[in-house]
Amino acid sequence: MAAREQMTGCERVIGALKGGEVDRLPLITPTSVATVESMAATGAYFPEAHTDPHKMAALAAAGHELLGFDTTAPYFSILLEAAALGCDVDWNPADAMPAVKKNPLERWDDWRPPSNFLDRQPVKALLKAIRLLKDRYGNRIAVVGKVIGPWTLAYHLCGVQNFLLGLVLEPDSVRELLDRLLAVPLQLAAAELGAGADVLTWADHATSDLVSAAAYREFLLPRHQQAMEQWPAEIPVILHTCGRATDRLGYFTQTGFTAFHFDSRNPPGELLNLANGKLTLVGGLNNPQTLLNSRVDEVRTAVEELLRAGVHLVAPECAVPLRTPNRNLQAVVRAVRDFNRRQREHGEK
Ligand SMILES: [Zn+2]
Repeated sequence: MAAREQMTGCERVIGALKGGEVDRLPLITPTSVATVESMAATGAYFPEAHTDPHKMAALAAAGHELLGFDTTAPYFSILLEAAALGCDVDWNPADAMPAVKKNPLERWDDWRPPSNFLDRQPVKALLKAIRLLKDRYGNRIAVVGKVIGPWTLAYHLCGVQNFLLGLVLEPDSVRELLDRLLAVPLQLAAAELGAGADVLTWADHATSDLVSAAAYREFLLPRHQQAMEQWPAEIPVILHTCGRATDRLGYFTQTGFTAFHFDSRNPPGELLNLANGKLTLVGGLNNPQTLLNSRVDEVRTAVEELLRAGVHLVAPECAVPLRTPNRNLQAVVRAVRDFNRRQREHGEK
């Protein structure tokens, strides 16, 4: 077997997400792998790296340069759109992710997305960072764009409790809100593609601790389908939803998303059965216990277990905790690469 790499990083990432044959398994980061250690190494710290495009690009590049991933993911938090849409955001210090201080909407019937949304600073910074990374890397690695879906945007704008109450009390007005909110990720996703993103993460937190699978089917599935119907087929889209998802994975396979970024609380075998080849699975590595608090050899064991279970695109389950040691992320990359090598040498399955 030829051990030489024949594909560009971009081709490999896109090919693997689409479930195609690749020359080796790529290491993909659907969400942030920014750490305090990488901030110190690059001099690009939070909070500035959330909104300064040069710092954002420098810190995102560390995912490839320092950690060895085949992707670079410059959108670290989940609050850039929220901030651009008028949420009061606390950007927090270097070792904490940003948080919403105040949800701007008590009522939402009159709310419309602002027409100049893409020109607002946090969003403009992301687009510029994507452009800088694409200019720097070309097709050597894949630039991961990210948008926040209408469900999570509703949490940010209306507040979780207020929005969830709305599902019960005024379902029609919730549907109308979600229709209006859907324009936001669609517009931003198109702009990110224009700036050079090669793949896209679509984060939408209709999680099982807060919403039933039936509510997902009723309120969000049709909107995800609508979004993916108008999406260019050649660009893979990774759905990210935290938590247990086995009760809704069957619905996720009907969306048109290419891949699902999954949490370690999901048994990989069960998830693979449910995905049934219709969704590629990415993720599976526990963040708080394994990546943040385990030793390198324990990280390695966790990666190998996922690979042997049939999950080929092993990655952190969500944005990594900021104090995660870089050596543990490097161990993920090394374990996957070693598995690849053994497969090639011994024809191991
Ligand atoms: Zn998550």
